[in-house]
Amino acid sequence: MSEVTLSLKFEGDSDGYVTFECPFCESEFKLQAAEFQDEDNSFPELFCPYCGLPSEVNTFYSSEVVEQAKILATNYMYEQLNQAFGKMSRKLNRSNIIKMKFKPLKKINVKELKDKDTAEEIFECSACNNHLKVLYCAGVSKVFCPYCGVDQ
Ligand SMILES: [Zn+2]
Ligand SMILES: [Zn+2]
Repeated sequence: MSEVTLSLKFEGDSDGYVTFECPFCESEFKLQAAEFQDEDNSFPELFCPYCGLPSEVNTFYSSEVVEQAKILATNYMYEQLNQAFGKMSRKLNRSNIIKMKFKPLKKINVKELKDKDTAEEIFECSACNNHLKVLYCAGVSKVFCPYCGVDQ
């Protein structure tokens, strides 16, 4: 089978921010979807704004996003199977030798990845001018920029 890329679209909250989760300290923060998905700037790594540790971008995806990716992959597989079996049953039924009944697999509903609004502080990085939202209640005195790792 050829390789397939399933693209996840991040919707974000009312300000267009999407939740991420640090793989080290499990704290949540938000990045502006437009900045994060900017095609001119791809970010192989992100820094946790709280502990400042860098890691690959996909390790920062929140469990909700990972769940979503799994659903997309499953649906894609079902679609392929449905197509293959649909074709096969049509062929067999035409031949009149074997009758094949085929019930297509039901796809899982993809719920929209909409982020809820929570009490957060918006920071703008003085080095790269990208934005991030950190949880206000986390009480952080120092915040690292997720893109360039500079502390604010
Ligand atoms: Zn962290
Ligand atoms: Zn920065």
